[in-house]
Amino acid sequence: MANNKEQRFRKLKKSHLWLSLLFLILFTLIAHAALVLFVASFLNNLLGQKIQGEYDHVSYMARLYENGLLDSDSRVLQLLDDHSSYLILNADEEIIEESGENTCDLTPEFIRISGVTGLITYYPDRDGDFLSPTAGGYLAVNFRKTYHFLTKNDNLILEQLQEGQNHANLPFWIEVPMKDGKSFVGKASFKIYLRDVILLSAFAALLAIMIFVIFVIMIISICTNRSHQRKLLSVFFTDEVTGQHNWMWILIRGEQMLKRRGNASKHYAILSILFMDYRNFCVCHSIAEGEAMLCKVDRTIAGILRRKEMSAHCSSASFAVLLQYNNINELKQRVEDLLAKLENIDETHKFAFHIGVDLMEPVVDASGKIVRRKTVNIEEEYNNACAARESLPDNEGSGIAFFDEALVEEQRWIDTVRERQDAALANEEFLVYYQPKYDPKTNELRGAEALVRWNSPEFGLIPPGRFIPIFEKSGFIPQIDHYMIEHVARDQKAWLDSGYKCVPVSVNVSRAHFIESDLAEQIKGIIDSIGTPHELIELEVTESAFFDDKKAMIDTINRLKSYGFTVSMDDFGSGYSSLNSLKDMPLDVLKLDAEFFRGDEGNNRGQIVVSEAVRLAKSLNMRTVAEGVEIKEQVDFLADLGCDMIQGYYFAKPMPKNEYESRMQNNNINNNTELEEKE
Ligand code: C2E
Ligand code: CA
Ligand code: CA
Repeated sequence: MANNKEQRFRKLKKSHLWLSLLFLILFTLIAHAALVLFVASFLNNLLGQKIQGEYDHVSYMARLYENGLLDSDSRVLQLLDDHSSYLILNADEEIIEESGENTCDLTPEFIRISGVTGLITYYPDRDGDFLSPTAGGYLAVNFRKTYHFLTKNDNLILEQLQEGQNHANLPFWIEVPMKDGKSFVGKASFKIYLRDVILLSAFAALLAIMIFVIFVIMIISICTNRSHQRKLLSVFFTDEVTGQHNWMWILIRGEQMLKRRGNASKHYAILSILFMDYRNFCVCHSIAEGEAMLCKVDRTIAGILRRKEMSAHCSSASFAVLLQYNNINELKQRVEDLLAKLENIDETHKFAFHIGVDLMEPVVDASGKIVRRKTVNIEEEYNNACAARESLPDNEGSGIAFFDEALVEEQRWIDTVRERQDAALANEEFLVYYQPKYDPKTNELRGAEALVRWNSPEFGLIPPGRFIPIFEKSGFIPQIDHYMIEHVARDQKAWLDSGYKCVPVSVNVSRAHFIESDLAEQIKGIIDSIGTPHELIELEVTESAFFDDKKAMIDTINRLKSYGFTVSMDDFGSGYSSLNSLKDMPLDVLKLDAEFFRGDEGNNRGQIVVSEAVRLAKSLNMRTVAEGVEIKEQVDFLADLGCDMIQGYYFAKPMPKNEYESRMQNNNINNNTELEEKE
């Protein structure tokens, strides 16, 4: 596939889905971490502040104790409220004195709080199950501990709060150093207020809601992105006329299908189908009706598809089809059936279609093993199918052509001819060969036909059949016709001036040339500029030219005749409406096509047709020339019929100018003896 098309498709196909999903996962993780971080830091702050307050309180108690005020003054104890329980530890950490209820679990933990240098020691309470959210002594973010703290204490907190208190007490013990290595361990109370819980929950809930909303928005955006992309892809693969698949569908999906391992051993064929009458149909009806017909064609093609086959409308009247086949005969049958269906898609019209087929056989490696098609170039294969299709003749209705090596050779030759045609004309590489026409009764030279040969320095002498049809298609043919007319006129003039007994020489004027409205004047201009008498030039027109514009044709023929030129109908009998053309065209000469004299000699029916054709020409005051006559019996038969001239290998093949000159010179004398020898 061409790179730019593939790139366009890739760009369109790029969904960023994985990126979106990755982003979504990352976002969820980060949001979750943020939530936990927020709760933890909130808690840390809360705990830090509260622990500090409690530390101050216990320090104060320690000072009171040191000053002997704690035991003696019950009012002080009252003031201390629930801080009344305490322990005194000696330097070995043994309890030497205790007051109140001792619920202290003497496993020390450490914490660093602001306002106090160094770590402070505290102990959990056996009832309160208070766990510190610290790490390494610092008040720090510690998810595990924070969670623990919350989960282990939430029941306790809730119970207390539900009991109607405005706060929950979580007891723990704080150690404050005293003199002589002793220390004061006072019971402290960690208070959680209802507002703390509400604030914390509200913040957490808000954060959770925000995360959830963003999460949902992202999911929605991923989904809409996906559906948008699907729509884009379907537009990319949809034909605007048929509403079905377009060329890109076969180009991309077909290529993917062919490359699949499972299809490696399958034979595929790509078809290029051209609806020949489409433009005409649109002109006679309307574009809308034409497009409706294209839809019908598209549906008909789609109707014959099997699994793993596809079709598409490519451009105005052309379709591409990818078929799978087991053997070539089966494929041919399917294509023929399809063509028959297409020709009859409409009850009121019979349409013509040209189908080109290119085969894509399985790929084999050096050992002969079938391998997966790694590289498939559908565009190239389709182009081959198109080339095969274009090799079909334009005016002969429907047709099927397969792409093969001969076609490649043919295409190369066409290319070479087109490349060299101008230079060949400029270098006068085209030669005029003359094929004499003889009177079958007297064996007298009565005329000749000028036939072109291309004397190519590279390829040698090339017969006209190899390049005239190419020139006809490329539009170069009028230049060849002019070239021939000019050279023949010059030769005739020179022969006349040298005293030869000249006979009329006919020049072929191609159908493509004959439609030019001033053709008669162009020819007259060329011949007059050379000064050749008009009666020495005859113009041959093929019957097919009469199909184009009858009125213009008749007009051109009449003008040519009025200038004194003879006009003949070439290849009479090779087309299908010869009699009609004869009826309308005021021609001088009728050239019976060589086909009349091919095949079963002495065939009675063939002879009847020829004799009637000669009789018909005579009744229309036309002279007759029989072409392609090769044997004596035919000559005798034609002589008996009163055919005026014979142009055929029996008398002479087309020959170079100098040979023709000697024919003119030896006319009658030599010729007659030669012919006698032949007999
Ligand atoms: P055409 O105009 O029908 O020319 C007669 C062709 O029949 C010539 O083929 C000639 O060599 C061949 N022919 C004549 N007698 C016999 C015979 O007894 N047996 C056989 N087998 N063939 C015979 P050629 O020269 O190959 O020309 C082929 C065609 O090329 C011509 O058919 C004509 O249509 C075209 N052509 C040739 N020269 C020119 C030209 O200068 N201009 C144009 N427009 N077309 C030309
Ligand atoms: Ca001819
Ligand atoms: Ca002919």
